[in-house]
Parts: sequence; C-alpha cells; structure tokens
Amino acid sequence: MNVLVINCGSSSLKYQLLDMNTEEVLAKGLAERIGNQGAVLTHEAPGQEKVKFEQAMETHKEALNILMAALVDPNHGVLKSLEEVSAIGHRVLHAGEYYSDSIIIDADVIEKTELCNEMGPLHNPANLIGIRACQELLPKVPQVAVFDTAFHQSLPAEAYMYALPYEMYEKYHVRKYGFHGTSHKFVSRAAGEVMGKNIEDLKLISCHLGNGASLCAVKNGKAIDTSMGLTPLAGLVMGTRCGDIDPAIVPFLANKGYDVAELDNIMNKKSGILGVSGVSSDFRDVEEAANAGNERAQLALDIFYYRVRTTIGAYVAAMDGVDGIIFTAGLGENSVTSRQIICDGLSYLGISLDPVANSKRGEATIISDKDSKTTVMVIPTNEELMIARDTLALAK
Ligand code: AMP
Repeated sequence: MNVLVINCGSSSLKYQLLDMNTEEVLAKGLAERIGNQGAVLTHEAPGQEKVKFEQAMETHKEALNILMAALVDPNHGVLKSLEEVSAIGHRVLHAGEYYSDSIIIDADVIEKTELCNEMGPLHNPANLIGIRACQELLPKVPQVAVFDTAFHQSLPAEAYMYALPYEMYEKYHVRKYGFHGTSHKFVSRAAGEVMGKNIEDLKLISCHLGNGASLCAVKNGKAIDTSMGLTPLAGLVMGTRCGDIDPAIVPFLANKGYDVAELDNIMNKKSGILGVSGVSSDFRDVEEAANAGNERAQLALDIFYYRVRTTIGAYVAAMDGVDGIIFTAGLGENSVTSRQIICDGLSYLGISLDPVANSKRGEATIISDKDSKTTVMVIPTNEELMIARDTLALAK
C-alpha cells in the first residue's frame, strides 16, 4: 500500500510517497514559490538524479498536477499509475479541541478545520487548499488529516487553561493547544522501543529543538504538558520567536507606539536567537559567532539552554520523575555541544552522557552512559512516516 504525504504551506508543498509494506520512501519533493515568479518543484527518488520542474504554478492544484505527473513519468517516475496511491495523509496544523487523533477527511472535518483557521492563519488555510486540490484530482482516494495539535489533547485542564477570565476560554477558545504533536508522538513511541520498555510504563520528556522548538511531557504514552500554547509563539526561545515573556511587555511596548501587527511581527520574526544575538536565526551561525567571542551570540545560546533546562525541570515536577529525555529535530539531532550543555545542568537527575555515543548522528541511539539514572536519547524525528502510519491505519 502506497501512501502520499502532503504538507502544504502558504506558497509551498512538501511531499513524500511511502511504500507502507516496507515504510520505504519511494519519492519525495518540494514545490516552492507557488503563485509567485520563479516557482519550482524539485522531485527526487532514491538512486535517481534530482529533477527540477521550473514552470509557472499559480495554485497548489497545479503543483499537485506536476508532482503526480512526476510520480508516473516513464523516465523518473516510481509508479505505473496513480491508482497505486492508496491513501493521502495531510499534515494539518490546528484542530482546536475538535480532534484528539488523526481522522478520515469528510465535509465535517473540513468545516471544523476551517473554524480553526483564525488560530493557525498561516497554515490551516494552506492545508485546506491542499486537501481540496487532492480531492479534486484523486476523488476516490481516502484522505486523512493528521493534526499537529492532536497529540496534546490529552493535557489535563490545569496544564492547558490560562488564568484569564473563564469566558475567554468559553467565547474564544483561548487555551494551550501545543504543536509539533506528530513529532513528539513519533519520538516518544520510538523511545519506548530504544529503551526496550512499554511506553505505558514510562515518563518521558521529548525535546523538539529546531528552528521552532517545544518540549512535551509524555506520561504513560500520553502528553500531559507541552511548552507551546494557543499559538507556536509560547514556551522556549526559538530561531526568531521570543517564547514566554511577561505578557505585560505587550501593552508596555504598545504605549511606546508599537501597533499590534508590529509587535506580532517582532515577537515572531525578529526575536529569539536572532533578536538577542543580532547574528542569525540559525543555531550553527550563532554557535560559530559565540566560539569566535561574540558575547551576544553566547548570551542568546545561554538563554536558550537555560530555558530548555528549566522547562525540563518543570516537566520532571509535572510527572513526579522522568525515565527518559529525548532530543530531536535539527539542533536536537545534530548539535553535540547543545545536548552536552543542556545535560550538564541536569546532574540532579543522575544524568551522565557517554561522549562517544553523544558524538553520533542520524540514528536513534542512547547517549547517556550505563551509570546514568535517566536515559538520554537522540531520536531523529520523522513526521512524514508518522503521518503515513496514521493514514494507513485509518485508510485500511
Ligand atoms: P529544523 O527546524 O528541525 O529543520 O531545525 C533547523 C535548525 O537546526 C537550524 O536552524 C539549525 O540552527 C539547527 N541545526 C541543524 N544542524 C545543526 C548542527 N550541526 N549544529 C547546530 N545546529 C544545527
């Protein structure tokens, strides 16, 4: 059974085709600058050269048409016909409180997802465009929505409620939702396998540290707290996002003359590692600058590490202990130094890293040594595979 995984952004479309008998990636690609000049779709299949389609793509449907033609192309295609696509899985950002799991898409799912557009204005409308385009192009193929918020719907009320007047929740659904749910679900399940234990018996902290970053406390297989909130701006310090700040800073700066849109832009696009360091939003650049003696770059990293470490501490308290800590995503999977620095401050958990294991990359592995009281792991995330697994389970 082949599953096509689609992730639509406002002007982009990422895809992977997986053979779910083997979980092997048959083809993948990315369409960029959809609706703009210079649109391009890059398609690749293992063992073949990358192919670039540089042609006008006014809509996501046109991009889908190109990718579907690429999948069955006699030269670089991997399928004989599109009938070999058994199901399509869509990454969807926000499901509000409507869905706590992935679901087969029907008119009702589309309507509920649309109701969540205002909470995910950059992503949900684009995700829906992708869903509708696939419905038009392959009307007989079952489609599944896999929501970034779904895994966090198991949070207890004391973790998801903000202490605002209750009517803000009732009228406007203002609460913590959390994101990166597909990643946290994938790596926490994989951690059970790596540790050789049943996830139902484990207390885990999943650290998704990429350009966007969030932590998730997973107790007995269920999310019980997470660091992002109503939107992905909350929690940790990120590439360009400020994470948690005193909410009174917003009216304070408004009184200095900044309007809502400017403040939103500053907090989302000009803050975080970029805002403090003044160097870059990319951790590699900031690490390099810090190593060369740039004090603000070092400060940005110190704030980042401090916030990760103190949030780990909060989740140890939330679960009354921890058995395993998982590092994943761009920085979590690749930065040996960051993992070392974050764990250096966790000696109260009896953590000691094995420097040789910690220097490995690209494979799921335990990086703590045999005496460590808490297991520390690196687990490469694979959101596409998680989406494909959920899609397969539902489409069957
Ligand atoms: P992601 O959003 O998961 O794709 O992660 C992207 C971020 O991971 C980039 O902004 C980099 O800052 C970071 N990253 C990737 N590789 C490394 C590395 N070897 N060392 C430090 N940071 C890295």
